[in-house]
Amino acid sequence: MSLQPDTFKSLVKAAAEQVIASAPELTALDQAIGDGDHGANMKRGFEAVLSKLDAIGTQPLDEALKSIGKTLVMTVGGASGPLYGSFFLAAGEALSHDRSLPENLPEVFGSGVDAVSARGRSRAGEKTMLDVLVPVLETLKSGVGRSDLIEQIRTTASESVQRTAPMQATKGRASFLGTRSIGHIDPGARSSCVMLHAVCSVLEART
Ligand code: ADP
Ligand code: MG
Repeated sequence: MSLQPDTFKSLVKAAAEQVIASAPELTALDQAIGDGDHGANMKRGFEAVLSKLDAIGTQPLDEALKSIGKTLVMTVGGASGPLYGSFFLAAGEALSHDRSLPENLPEVFGSGVDAVSARGRSRAGEKTMLDVLVPVLETLKSGVGRSDLIEQIRTTASESVQRTAPMQATKGRASFLGTRSIGHIDPGARSSCVMLHAVCSVLEART
């Protein structure tokens, strides 16, 4: 089995639409521990992705991921733009080296996670998007071939978002608040979860 172009297009479309629909929630989360722009940043970026979706859909998968990355870098802004951009650029790059989806999903997703970590000089436990991306990577690594993998990813993502609430932020704008960042969900963790849940829903409907 390989990931078909029309499936890929549906995944990107669903993720973009869900991020756009979640903009008010992401704004509210970022108002609590940041500057309140995460919803608008992500909405702008994913509207740009949607506007290019037909062209992206005709590209080979590695190039398509890189196009999404470049679009996000150019349009999202804030801290999250370069970080999400790096994720997709690195995933695309990983895919271009003799890898295919879904077989090499852990390696490809892992390259994206590593790129976020390198770009953000951050790792899991610092109350960022990595607190969702890293546990999901672990689930992917341990769950390949399992029939309930999609459900596991969905659960890991939701639980991981909730686990950011008691954390103190040590990276990004929220770290300026020190202990006052405790008790709030991280906006980037939530936007990662929104994208992952959208992807899970499309895959569930097709299996
Ligand atoms: P900004 O913080 O510049 O206003 P956004 O509000 O769009 O940018 O994005 C904030 C999110 O970016 C945070 O909630 C966090 O998840 C993520 N983030 C910020 N800094 C880092 C970092 N160094 N590493 C990983 N993620 C980060
Ligand atoms: Mg912000």
